[in-house]
Amino acid sequence: MSAVQKTQPVQAVFDAAAARLGRVNGPRVSFEFFPPKSDKLEEQLWQVIRRLEPLAPAFVSVTYGAGGSTRDRTHRTVARIVEETTLKPAAHLTCVSATREEIDEVMRAYWAAGVRHIVALRGDPPAGAGAKYEPHPGGYAYAADLVVGARRVADFEVSVAVYADLHPDSTSWQTEIDNFRRKIDAGATRGISNFFVDADSFLRLRDRFADAGINAPIVPGVMPVSNFNGFKRMAGVGGVFVPQWFADIFEGLDDDPETRLLVAAATTGELCARLAAEGVEDFHFYTLNRAELTLAICRMLGVKAQKEAVR
Ligand code: FAD
Repeated sequence: MSAVQKTQPVQAVFDAAAARLGRVNGPRVSFEFFPPKSDKLEEQLWQVIRRLEPLAPAFVSVTYGAGGSTRDRTHRTVARIVEETTLKPAAHLTCVSATREEIDEVMRAYWAAGVRHIVALRGDPPAGAGAKYEPHPGGYAYAADLVVGARRVADFEVSVAVYADLHPDSTSWQTEIDNFRRKIDAGATRGISNFFVDADSFLRLRDRFADAGINAPIVPGVMPVSNFNGFKRMAGVGGVFVPQWFADIFEGLDDDPETRLLVAAATTGELCARLAAEGVEDFHFYTLNRAELTLAICRMLGVKAQKEAVR
């Protein structure tokens, strides 16, 4: 056996990212949560927030249930993050099932609670993702219109959605490019992508926007997949490409959550390592209100609790 030490891919990415970024603590990360449905789940979410807080994310975001169904819970969660943590929350907001006045009121309440960042989304039709979308009469029609509204209500930082595998309602990449440009021109500062499996999907999207002269950053949305069946359902609805090799890796593990967790750490860690090697410097994690996979993958990217930073 050769005595020559070969550099492992993850180590190479870790070293290259640290050298290029010149940062003490790896790339920037952000974490997404959904508002909990019960007191018990709220308690669990707060344990997760406390575990992730020392990683000093750029921001954390809290989703808004379909049709505003979590309006109060989203508000309560972001307000509590402002009051009880050092984290900067971003509140998601959608156009669905509400008038402009109602949505403006939600935004004013966020501002009053100390929230300074909105993730502005169209939302899915009330009948569910995949159904035909009809703007609410008197409402904001699309995300770009909501961005205009948010910027009018207050000096919010605004993030918007982009899609590495094309949004199901987009008829072409040109539609997707034009739509992102409209959202940026309306005052958004970054795109956060839907989750994806194939790193090339995201990298091609980045090239498409750059070739079209759009300079706003896009951040990959990373979903550590430990429940493959749930993931496959969401991917189907959202038009996310699931390669056969990825389905094969999880095949037969339905009753084996421990192995699924390890496989998820390896596959998601590799995805992030590849993106970091391609110069990606920001990562948005769909935590699904769990800490362990996000913590593990952050470590692989060189992101540790601030006080234990090694570089
Ligand atoms: P838009 O940017 O408005 O685009 C949607 C489609 O409409 C595109 O195909 C676009 O080309 C087309 N379009 C845009 N403008 C026009 C126009 N003027 N005329 C005709 N067509 C047009 N959903 C939730 O309910 N709650 C959440 O908290 C939530 N968070 C999300 C976070 C992220 C990072 C992402 C990626 C998605 C999130 N979603 C959420 C899902 C999102 O609401 C759906 O994907 C929705 O179907 C599209 O929202 P959008 O903001 O991308 O829409």
